[in-house]
Amino acid sequence: MPYDIEIARAAEKMPISEVGEKLGIPEAALIPYGRDKAKLDARFIRGLAGREDGKLILVTAINPTPAGEGKTTTTVGLGDALQRIGKKTAICIREASLGPNFGMKGGAAGGGRAQVIPMEDMNLHFTGDFHAVTAAHNLLAAMIDNHMYWGNALEIDERRVTWRRVMDMNDRALREIIVGLGGVSNGFPRQTGFDITVASEVMACLCLASDLEDLQARLGRIVVAYRRDRSPITCADIGADGAMVVLLKEAMQPNLVQTLEHTPAFVHGGPFANIAHGCNSVIATQSALKLADYVVTEAGFGADLGAEKFFDIKCRKAGLKPAAAVIVATIRAMKMNGGLAKDQLGSENVAAVEKGCPNLGRHIANTKAFGVPVVVALNHFTSDTEAEIAAVKAYVAKQGCEAVVCRHWADGGAGAVELAEKVVHLADTGAMFAPLYPDDMGLFDKIDTIARRIYHAGDVIADKKIRDQLREWEAAGYRDLPICMAKTPFSFSTDPLLRGAPSGHTLPIREVRLSAGAGFIVVICGEIMTMPGLPRNPAAASIRLNADGEIEGLF
Ligand code: ADP
Ligand code: MG
Repeated sequence: MPYDIEIARAAEKMPISEVGEKLGIPEAALIPYGRDKAKLDARFIRGLAGREDGKLILVTAINPTPAGEGKTTTTVGLGDALQRIGKKTAICIREASLGPNFGMKGGAAGGGRAQVIPMEDMNLHFTGDFHAVTAAHNLLAAMIDNHMYWGNALEIDERRVTWRRVMDMNDRALREIIVGLGGVSNGFPRQTGFDITVASEVMACLCLASDLEDLQARLGRIVVAYRRDRSPITCADIGADGAMVVLLKEAMQPNLVQTLEHTPAFVHGGPFANIAHGCNSVIATQSALKLADYVVTEAGFGADLGAEKFFDIKCRKAGLKPAAAVIVATIRAMKMNGGLAKDQLGSENVAAVEKGCPNLGRHIANTKAFGVPVVVALNHFTSDTEAEIAAVKAYVAKQGCEAVVCRHWADGGAGAVELAEKVVHLADTGAMFAPLYPDDMGLFDKIDTIARRIYHAGDVIADKKIRDQLREWEAAGYRDLPICMAKTPFSFSTDPLLRGAPSGHTLPIREVRLSAGAGFIVVICGEIMTMPGLPRNPAAASIRLNADGEIEGLF
């Protein structure tokens, strides 16, 4: 197989207006960003209200392993396959963060013959949305420090400013910093720090907002600091919400691009999957549902985190009703869940595959518990053997489900036609989607419900301080918010090394945070990094332009 970038570069792109035509988007509703990218005009989106929705298909996965699962690749492959069997289809995925590209190789546009193009643009500046989020976020930060400088009428306690700054780069040196050094004219010295842009609450607001008005309301509600009496100060108190929306006006419009097979793809938004909900924007998904009969979308991490947050945060809040879910599994990841190390995956080992299967089984049962019918996509790697595939199929059949072998990475949409047919059939069976817990359940009980029902934990441990904090927020009017769990994606438990399907473990809560603008309570269980660092040998050291002006070394 050629490299991803070679396949992407060799692809013949359809003019973006023709891609739009497939969904009945008039040229006037597309704001071109070059020849192969466009934004969907906000007025056009408003005009779609009242149209019937297409069917929403979620692509999720087993717990990720270093062996790789291929959710994005499968999202793209399934989209292409649905288009191939004559369905009016759109794909909805997240935009890529710039920082990680320069650390470890690996893009966010899929892989092999199932990719979104132009993949270099998509993985770099794209249409500038993340830069706009960075600017809006930092405008608020600047206004907070400025407010304190000019007399601090709001009585902000400079020790309790929770709003940090962001940048779309991996830079560990900025995790903890001191600002305001250098004398009276530079303000008040205080400790703060940087997060990566995708961890900004502005990003989560953008991805959950239904329109610009809702975006402004959400930004306004963000809690940025506290007074000495612990009363909160919001973005609206600082008066930054209006200007931030001005900076985000274009970023709020979904980006339209295409797959290698010219299936329309909306690539929009990219919130972190740990301290945020990890899905593309609500506005892109809702627009796609008005324009296509089938919309295939992806949620970050495995189904314990990604699908749960997709259902309980995004679908609940946006009123989305998923029609079916695809759980991506690979033989290699089954083996790792069965206890093998990464360097032991090359040879046939049916016993290890069988031992890893309960991880998949747990995700199947969990997803079905949301009332959403499930099919397993066995993303085929060249090292998979017939006996290993048969073992997974037999296991999945015993769970009352079906596993379909998919070869979209090697063969494009043609390799996922069987999956597409199954998905169409499942989506017609009439899903009865319901979130896991009701809005009015207490915050701690919501956490407990997720821990027991999804993770199969035996107990949730939280200090009195944390329980008191949750009660305080309930009293302050935040009881109805959903929970955004932040824990390791590698296990159902909080121990990344505990693979498979563990039960009876305890879930220790370390910290809780209020994201009042995004509209969720973040529950942190374990070490969560909101500003990554670069590895010893960063990819950036070998990225360059060649004599033809092409990018080398990015993927
Ligand atoms: P996820 O969305 O789950 O993080 P991706 O779809 O981005 O995963 O895939 C991760 C990497 O694995 C990509 O580099 C992709 O090219 C590669 N990959 C995916 N499926 C296959 C496959 N069947 N064979 C080989 N490589 C694959
Ligand atoms: Mg992905």
